Amino acid sequence: MAERQIDIVIFGAGIAGLWALHRFKAMGYDALLLESESIGGGQTIASQGIIHSGLKYAFAGKINKLAQSISAMPDLWRAALRGEGDVNLSAARYNAESQYLMIPGGLMGSLVKLVTKQALGNNVHEVKPDDWPEKIKSSGFKGTVVFMDEPVLDVPSVIRALAEPYKDSIRSIDTPDDPFGFLERHGIEARHVIFTGAASNAKIAALKPQHAKGLEMQHRPLLMGLFKPAPYRLYAHLVGTSDKPVATITTHETSEGELVWYLGGAVAERKKEAPAEQVFEAARKGFVKYMPQVDLSNVQWATVPIDRVEGKSISEGWMPDTPTIHSIGNVHYCWPTKLTFAPLLTDRLLEKLDIKPSDTQTDFSFLPEADYTQTPWDEAQWTKSS
Ligand SMILES: Cc1cc2nc3c(=O)[nH]c(=O)nc-3n(C[C@H](O)[C@H](O)[C@H](O)COP(=O)(O)OP(=O)(O)OC[C@H]3O[C@@H](n4cnc5c(N)ncnc54)[C@H](O)[C@@H]3O)c2cc1C
Repeated sequence: MAERQIDIVIFGAGIAGLWALHRFKAMGYDALLLESESIGGGQTIASQGIIHSGLKYAFAGKINKLAQSISAMPDLWRAALRGEGDVNLSAARYNAESQYLMIPGGLMGSLVKLVTKQALGNNVHEVKPDDWPEKIKSSGFKGTVVFMDEPVLDVPSVIRALAEPYKDSIRSIDTPDDPFGFLERHGIEARHVIFTGAASNAKIAALKPQHAKGLEMQHRPLLMGLFKPAPYRLYAHLVGTSDKPVATITTHETSEGELVWYLGGAVAERKKEAPAEQVFEAARKGFVKYMPQVDLSNVQWATVPIDRVEGKSISEGWMPDTPTIHSIGNVHYCWPTKLTFAPLLTDRLLEKLDIKPSDTQTDFSFLPEADYTQTPWDEAQWTKSS
């Protein structure tokens, strides 16, 4: 018999593992979270922190299960931030309580507006030009501005709010390629084993042929852009003529207090190995065309190469509609699909747990502690580009 019998072990302290651990511990489960690098690293710290309501997907013509299933998420997160949810995020911060959809003018702008209105009906709230925020007015933007009732969170603070109360149960694993061996070596037997290690899930499932059967995962590469100093705080999807925004702009602060604009959307949709200059060029073109008063003459640029890793979607180049869980008995391989979906992933895992919380709490101090991750803007290699 194993020395330590616990309820649940989770591998991977990104948003999926952290949300699950926090919730399980709060319910009284004896749970351990093992991390191979740093807490919140991987996609979670690289994310833009947007808690999507589905508006962006509806605009992209994806008024489907995804737009519907995601629409319940902002309220769940807001409740958690008020300290009234299934997890307690009262120590986490908003970067912004809402954001904007900026639809450039002209014929295409009108068409886009029509599509969005048809898709979302009364949920579209157009902001009259006189009421536009000063920063959008001063950017030289011409077109339609739509208010989006979607929060943007400060992800480092979310990571800490989830991890800190249960930090003693988040430990470091030195043999991430051999998770089952690690448990055995440390005399740990868990009634449920959960993998939330993103890209590593498939590699681990391959250790046991019956686990790999039917497990399908996809990678979608991004080369995100960053520049500093940013002129002001802005949280907006700047749309163009394709089904992806030209740029999704979020603002973050380095540990030295400098503002950074982090650019996703079409400017970032390219191979991670692509020359960084391609991102800068696409971003520059977008700003010159749609926000010509944004001064880029004296900024430094950087890129963040990263894959989105998800369960396999049936529609090519797109993401699954909800989180994915591949279960074999009491072993579960999971991808939340979006940061936004972390609460739904844990709900679905709870449906699979056929056990009651044991209400004992094992002391895991025999395992090394895990450290928090750095932000991409603090780690970036900045270049001054012409
Ligand atoms: C650039 C970018 C921007 C995004 N922006 C948004 C957004 O604004 N809103 C949104 O909703 N979603 C966004 N997403 C998607 C979202 O970030 C991801 O869906 C989510 O963070 C995935 O969380 P995760 O916990 O599954 O994986 P990750 O965050 O990648 O975490 C996996 C963790 O597991 C660890 N690990 C790996 N293997 C092992 C192992 N064997 N043992 C132990 N630990 C292991 C890793 O070190 C890592 O810490 C974005 C994604 C990207 C890439």
